[in-house]
Amino acid sequence: MTAPHRLRLDAAALIHNWQALDRLSGTAACGAAIKADGYGLGAAGVAARLADAGCRDFFVATWDEAERVAALRLPLSVLHGVRAEDMPIALSGIARPVLNSDVQVARWRSASGGACDVMVDTGMNRLGVSADAVRDGLLDGLTIDTLMSHLACADEDRAMNAAQRTAFAALRGVTGARRMSLANSAGIALGTDYAFDLTRPGLALYGGVPRGELADALRQVAMPEAQVLQRRTVAAGDTVGYNATWTATQPTEVAIINVGYADGYLRAFSDRGTADCGRLSVIGRVSMDLVALDVGAAPDLAEGDWVPLDFALPDVAARSGLSQYELLTGLGRRYERLWA
Ligand SMILES: *Cc1c(COP(=O)(O)O)cnc(C)c1O
Repeated sequence: MTAPHRLRLDAAALIHNWQALDRLSGTAACGAAIKADGYGLGAAGVAARLADAGCRDFFVATWDEAERVAALRLPLSVLHGVRAEDMPIALSGIARPVLNSDVQVARWRSASGGACDVMVDTGMNRLGVSADAVRDGLLDGLTIDTLMSHLACADEDRAMNAAQRTAFAALRGVTGARRMSLANSAGIALGTDYAFDLTRPGLALYGGVPRGELADALRQVAMPEAQVLQRRTVAAGDTVGYNATWTATQPTEVAIINVGYADGYLRAFSDRGTADCGRLSVIGRVSMDLVALDVGAAPDLAEGDWVPLDFALPDVAARSGLSQYELLTGLGRRYERLWA
């Protein structure tokens, strides 16, 4: 069975992006965040290709996500650490937990859990143990592979970036950690000062551009396409779609395509989205499973034909008001994923 919408995935572009980020990471290794099902592209498909390209450090959010890629036997870290109910799977050794709190540290130590990673908070106040607690010996006796922290505003020019870098650098040598890691995608663009021993890009691997400096280095990876379900001529004065928000000012050629907000093509694209390199425009409201396009510019487009939706992330984010992260991770599971 083939779905009436598909996600074309460009493996060469994915690998190109990882290699570009690896180069920009200087002497640091470059890993890959594959949480949220590989930012909506399919974690296993992404991870297998990046592992072939040489990537040796992968990050998921939860143990559920770790189990889904366990068969690939990747070096894997679970960013949210270990809850009590995660301990059996965590002790099975399919991944290292990234310990985030004093409670998690105590839990892992009392289970003699083996190698782990640790997140230190340097100002984001989201996850992580305090740097002072680390200095006071919180982590003594643990076998730490990677000590990490996370940048709160790396996609902006803010004094907080350097402040977080300095706070993190001050922990060098304080723990027995084998490596230190700070930069996400945007952090890589801040320069090799931010790379430490290992970088952790997510968004940029998948073609998202968190900072302008990266725009020329990255290629689009995910291209959604949908099939035409019906073509019709709408008479002047008639309306299209829910709530009749769009009215034809002249006879208009319209194609109804098989994609909608349940596929992450959200209502923010109503009257704003485009397809086929800007030639076709969304008219009226996006429905759950359907979108109407003005196809006056495509006289031959017929039922059953495939239409590529414009999905270059920086452009589409600006046009829709959605973040590049939301656009990718919202893509949903109905697409047939076609790697080329
Ligand atoms: C998601 C995440 C990343 C990747 O961030 P991007 O902005 O997508 O590059 C890196 N590190 C941590 C801790 C994360 O949660």
